[in-house]
Amino acid sequence: MKSLIVNNVSKSYKRKSALKDISFEVEKGELFGVIGPDGAGKSTLFRIMTTLILADKGEVKIEGYDVVKDYKKIRNIVGYMPGRFSLYQDLTVRENIEFFAAVFNTTVEENYHLVKDIYSQIEPFEKRKAGALSGGMKQKLALSCALIHKPEVLFLDEPTTGVDPISRKEFWNMLKNLQEKGITIIVSTPYMDEATLCNRIALINEGEFMDINTPQELIRKFPKKLYSLNSDNLLNLMNILREDPNVETSFSFGHSIHVTLNDETKHNGYQEIEPSIEDYFMRLSKPQN
Ligand code: ADP
Repeated sequence: MKSLIVNNVSKSYKRKSALKDISFEVEKGELFGVIGPDGAGKSTLFRIMTTLILADKGEVKIEGYDVVKDYKKIRNIVGYMPGRFSLYQDLTVRENIEFFAAVFNTTVEENYHLVKDIYSQIEPFEKRKAGALSGGMKQKLALSCALIHKPEVLFLDEPTTGVDPISRKEFWNMLKNLQEKGITIIVSTPYMDEATLCNRIALINEGEFMDINTPQELIRKFPKKLYSLNSDNLLNLMNILREDPNVETSFSFGHSIHVTLNDETKHNGYQEIEPSIEDYFMRLSKPQN
């Protein structure tokens, strides 16, 4: 059974298009990632799916319910952790989670089993104001608050943005545990390395889904051999590569440049590497040389 069905959803702000004809489905119990850079349309999509804003066109169904007609029902069965922390900064940790439980007519005790692994880590700081927590702790509290009414489907919009690498890793372990409890999870992230932790991902750029598949299959679809080149002067190297007629694409990746060639027999001894999701994303999103 499908937890989520999105059909031909489009959305513009004034005349600027933010989402163009988005369609996808998520199976029950799946961990599905929406991966793309800032401004790609992730938050807009998440706000439509969680009934906060209306699409201009198309339809969204969650567990069989329509986001427009059945929005009240949907608000009961989804949990949503927005991009910027949704916490009340002046309330304490305990007051925040109690508030979110009360909104849904439940208590922290009733669903404590669901948040225990996560909430127990911030419980020693229950009396601290949410505004005084570290990024990683805020993230755990926000996740606990999104879970406290026992949602069937959990929407997490960029939950790891601005969080340190260790907390990011911990967070993904928490998501795997929640998935094992049967919760369907839809998560967005600009971090391409997190893509491999999802069952399936959609690559989004400029309001469009460029591809949807398992991370392994997307990497397998990379159509060329990929080479990595280093230099003390990357800018100079990039200029040389751009002039080279045998260079098909060249993208800068931190301290190296990743290159594909038109004629791979003429590889000049370049170091061949395995492509990543980011390589595939860049190839799809940028015009070729
Ligand atoms: P992401 O979450 O991937 O960063 P958003 O959905 O926030 O992307 O934004 C998609 C596009 O829509 C961007 O160009 C952004 O500037 C624009 N946008 C988002 N929200 C609004 C708004 N309330 N009014 C006008 N433009 C908006």
